[in-house]
Amino acid sequence: MTRTCYIILILFIIYLAFHVGRAYGDPWQDCATTYCTIYYTDTKDLMRFEKRVGDIDSLASRVLEITGLRYKEVPKAQIYLQHENCYIAFGITAPAAYYPKEKLIRANIDYVKKHHIAHELTHFYVCQYFLMYMPGQMQEVVAQWVEGKT
Ligand SMILES: [Zn+2]
Repeated sequence: MTRTCYIILILFIIYLAFHVGRAYGDPWQDCATTYCTIYYTDTKDLMRFEKRVGDIDSLASRVLEITGLRYKEVPKAQIYLQHENCYIAFGITAPAAYYPKEKLIRANIDYVKKHHIAHELTHFYVCQYFLMYMPGQMQEVVAQWVEGKT
């Protein structure tokens, strides 16, 4: 074999290792609804989520209605179901949280309730809607108001 063949072979092995590794290393499965994509590792969690929160599309649609945000195209919210509480800051955790940098919601499937998801969806929609970042405390006022109405 020539040196070029060795290099091509090594690159191919690296390519395969990367892709096979990703396929086996990624535990997340996803379920796309009209307004959300829900990521889960166990199908039972997906069913528990529906039991705890109800129909996610009805909830998302209600949140949009209450906030009055008029999107041309509603962005899909990503919700990750996990079994731990979500880290917020300074050691504080909660059953659900919105992470603006990653633009995703995490929810503890063992404790999350409908109003938590309504709250986090509000953060998501508000952050996506405005070009300028709405200060956290202002978002909180809106999110708590929406959660009380769902
Ligand atoms: Zn909040």
